[in-house]
Amino acid sequence: MSRLILIAALLGAIYFLFFRRSVKAPKNDALEMIKCDKCGAYVAADEAITKRGKTFCSKKCAEVNGGGQ
Ligand SMILES: [Zn+2]
Repeated sequence: MSRLILIAALLGAIYFLFFRRSVKAPKNDALEMIKCDKCGAYVAADEAITKRGKTFCSKKCAEVNGGGQ
């Protein structure tokens, strides 16, 4: 009887570890932060704007940088 409980606990631990891993992995990829070249703010890679080889946090920063000299 105690062996059954041990196996159940082991399976639960393995499932828990696996579940946590699979949730954690994609989160790390999605949360890559990129520094804005204009104001220095950090923005998610998804929302970052790349212009002339530089990365900006918003359209505002991208426009200010490009419009100047
Ligand atoms: Zn910015």
